[in-house]
Amino acid sequence: MKLERVLQYAKTLLTQTIEEGATVIDATAGNGHDTLFLAKLVGNTGHVYAFDIQQQALDHTKERLGSYASRVTLINDGHEMVTNYVAQPIDAAIFNLGYLPGGDHSIVTIATTTIEAIDRMLDLLIVGGIIILVIYHGHAGGATERDAIIQHVSQYDQKYVHVLQYQFLNQKNTPPFIIALEKVKAFS
Ligand code: SAM
Repeated sequence: MKLERVLQYAKTLLTQTIEEGATVIDATAGNGHDTLFLAKLVGNTGHVYAFDIQQQALDHTKERLGSYASRVTLINDGHEMVTNYVAQPIDAAIFNLGYLPGGDHSIVTIATTTIEAIDRMLDLLIVGGIIILVIYHGHAGGATERDAIIQHVSQYDQKYVHVLQYQFLNQKNTPPFIIALEKVKAFS
């Protein structure tokens, strides 16, 4: 198969972007799969900031990280509060939208705070850095969040941010798709 699966493509983009020593954000730690992936990429000298509003998610993430935990700061707060915790430039960030698998399905990411977080992280992002949004939209409220995000990111000036949508159009059961934001010029 030549067309990479959506989740695999997200990993490919992150791998291409993140080098040893990088500072990166997992905006939705959940069960910690992405946090661990990022912790491996940043190496001994890099750092991951991982946000989640549910302590249960951060507990699962900590357990999954094992010996990589020293590379990660776990933050029990909304990703929209990012600038309260991260002051330095970031190389990459990933959002996995929706609910915590195996958790309370009524606790989901929502458009207003997701968009606020994306805008703040874009300000922190270095030129050449990337923000990945993995959009799950099959759950209650998912379509509303999806549409608001697409409308918002479509308005970024292409002089500063390249906005890609990567999606299979003929798959059943509303599978996730990706939006990738690449900063190509510093905001003036
Ligand atoms: N990437 C995760 C993994 O590897 O398991 C899955 C993330 S899950 C789809 C979405 C997570 O976002 C949930 O754990 C939920 O608690 C969290 N969340 C919802 N609103 C949030 C917010 N404003 N800030 C940070 N996390 C939030």
